[in-house]
Amino acid sequence: MTTQSITILGATGSIGTSTLDVLGRHPERFRIHALSGHRRIELLAEQCVAFRPARAVVPDAPAAIRLRQLVGDLALDISHGRAALCEIAREAEVVMAGIVGAAGLESALAAACAGRKVLLANKEALVMGGALFMDAVVHHGATLLPIDSEHNAIFQCLPRGRDTSDPRDGIARIILTASGGPFRTTPLEDLRNVTPDQACAHPNWVMGRKISVDSATMMNKGLEVIEARWLFDQPAGNIDVLIHPQSVIHSLVAYVDGSVIAELGNPDMRTPIAHALAYPERITTGVAPLDLARIASLHFEEPDFERFPCLKLAYAALAAGAAAPAVLNAANEIAVEAFLAGSIGFLDIARVVEATLESYSPSAPEDLAALIEIDTRAREFAARAMEKVA
Ligand code: NDP
Ligand code: MG
Repeated sequence: MTTQSITILGATGSIGTSTLDVLGRHPERFRIHALSGHRRIELLAEQCVAFRPARAVVPDAPAAIRLRQLVGDLALDISHGRAALCEIAREAEVVMAGIVGAAGLESALAAACAGRKVLLANKEALVMGGALFMDAVVHHGATLLPIDSEHNAIFQCLPRGRDTSDPRDGIARIILTASGGPFRTTPLEDLRNVTPDQACAHPNWVMGRKISVDSATMMNKGLEVIEARWLFDQPAGNIDVLIHPQSVIHSLVAYVDGSVIAELGNPDMRTPIAHALAYPERITTGVAPLDLARIASLHFEEPDFERFPCLKLAYAALAAGAAAPAVLNAANEIAVEAFLAGSIGFLDIARVVEATLESYSPSAPEDLAALIEIDTRAREFAARAMEKVA
């Protein structure tokens, strides 16, 4: 077996640590080229000592000095800044794009433009980049494998090696499952006062705080509908959301002949991560085997758009096209950050996103610079919208 080099962008996060857990079980398969971290420099230092990457990237010079102090004379090239993140994304054969939010766009795109095997956890990059991102993948011969559990499940349910836009595949619908998050049954009048910690207490998955809040508002599912549109080249009208509180079925594909293929497993991100790392082979993960007899029954329900206005906003942004998904994403990032900081309420998140979409509708970006400009301006509009709701 040949050893492949891998860079983990966002090594200190939930996706990053799960990726290192899987890699640690298969040291013969991968050589860790580089790891990046942002605020958790102590954890990054521990990871560097344990996994011996050639390079580490941190946000700024003080963080680089701190990392050097922590790792002592370990052989490690330490650099900082956005350009260094793009460098380590270009240098390895395989890149885990595990940074959260728009901050991960540039490095994920750099990996795609270098024709790498890109394992995409950072859904925001695809929501923002859309056609631009997919064109880069095709044009530079990159391989894009989804890490998001729903999209990884769909990928597994599609005919291997087929272009999904080929009508012979007979795809009727893509069905994304959603747990409904921690507030699926909370009385609507109580949602106004929920705290960040309550919003981050996801019933099935342990994740970073931003995606946990997105799961509670179901903006996460909205971003995933947009992500699915690009990954699988399906129109929005073919992408459904189905509430499935147990998160055992990770998603389904319905075919024109009536067949429905689903992927099941215990909710643990090491499964999709290992699937993408080893694809098309399979490797062990330490994930407990699924015991369906013990689970006994699986539950489903329709999503409630009144309870989850963010899901509706995401479908609307996808239908509006142009740069609306990038505006939606930027406004959501600003609103979630403000909610986590305690400056706006839970229900204000959807209000800020809606107001931003209403006030700013730029045309589709032609390149990365234009996309970043749209993202920056959308954040300014969102900040103004926030002053009104707060
Ligand atoms: P975390 O918050 O746990 O981790 C985010 C990672 O990005 C950390 O390594 C963090 O560094 C780094 N980071 C944060 N801000 C910046 C920045 N401005 N520049 C560079 N690096 C930065 O998030 P998750 O791991 O939960 O999520 C990562 C991505 O994967 C998201 O896009 C999410 O939507 C997606 N995803 C996550 C799933 C999960 O189960 N967690 C499931 C499906 C998708 P540090 O921690 O050192 O500050
Ligand atoms: Mg998901």
